[in-house]
Amino acid sequence: MDLESIILPGIAPARPVVIAGPCSAETEEQVLATARDVAARGIKIFRSGVWKPRTKPGGFEGIGTAALDWLKRVKQETGMYVTTEVANREHVSEALEAGIDILWLGARTTVNPFAVQEIADALRGVDVPVLVKNPINPDLELWIGAIERIYGAGLRRIAAIHRGFSSYDRRTYRNPPMWHIPIELRRRIPNLPMFCDPSHIAGKQSRIASLSQQAMDLQFDGLVVETHAHPEDAWSDSSQQITPEALEHLLRRLIIRSANRPSQRLLELRYRMDQIDEGILDLLARRMQLSDELGEYKKAYDMPILQTTRYSEIIERCAEFGVTLDLDPEFVRKMMKDIHEESIRRQMDVMDQ
Ligand code: PEP
Ligand code: MN
Repeated sequence: MDLESIILPGIAPARPVVIAGPCSAETEEQVLATARDVAARGIKIFRSGVWKPRTKPGGFEGIGTAALDWLKRVKQETGMYVTTEVANREHVSEALEAGIDILWLGARTTVNPFAVQEIADALRGVDVPVLVKNPINPDLELWIGAIERIYGAGLRRIAAIHRGFSSYDRRTYRNPPMWHIPIELRRRIPNLPMFCDPSHIAGKQSRIASLSQQAMDLQFDGLVVETHAHPEDAWSDSSQQITPEALEHLLRRLIIRSANRPSQRLLELRYRMDQIDEGILDLLARRMQLSDELGEYKKAYDMPILQTTRYSEIIERCAEFGVTLDLDPEFVRKMMKDIHEESIRRQMDVMDQ
């Protein structure tokens, strides 16, 4: 693809290019307070959803057109560029008329070729940067297809945003990152700038910093981070928004590695392994929660914690099962003993309470 830079005048072309701002524009005060704070911390591009795609009706679906005026004020007062999500041709024309500098397609739009084509047609002849989020389902071709539709309408300043993929199990991530998909996108379209949106991947504040670091290590060009002056009061995505102060802290601690770039293959293998490790820890944490419940039960019925027959049974059953999975039975016995020991320790804690 013959793409042009999405870097607007005044933005340093260094990694990461940062886009920050609230999930949604809620009130003029909230938008401006957050914008002033992020601008004072050096952020050059401000995000805010004006039209919000919500899973169920009845929730806050965005302020709509009126909020575009607030974004205009953000531009005038802070000098930041502003970006918002567009999901149909009316959004495109209103956003362009309001002078929105960068448009983005949300995950629920990218998934729908009719909607993407409608937006592409509305953008024909316009030169505005467009960021295309991945579709909610893990379908790389659909993501590339959306990028091609925008490109086919003559737009050249295009970038991708990786925001993770929907999953039924939301315990570890709200939208698991499945890093191999954006890695493959980079292989297919090497000159396409790529942003990572750790907020929608994580779904909670605590994981945003580590996801941002992973994105940097995978050579992403930028980050889109949901930032709110008062995250706890946010009208949408409250648990995943961070304060401007936390954003600054996160950005200061990011390590940008560039020399001796490991090969794509090595990166992919490492990241798949890291994901499995996180999965193992997640399962272990759930097992320990069950131990606590077991402790409560034993306490209530005056049962002893350690029942040696049960203990030997667990170890041997796992060792045998491990063999069917090509795991060394000695390794499995050792690991299960450690896990069991920790489980006993937790049950004792429960008994002592
Ligand atoms: C958003 O950026 O607030 C949003 C709605 O994201 P996504 O399309 O990734 O769900
Ligand atoms: Mn959001």
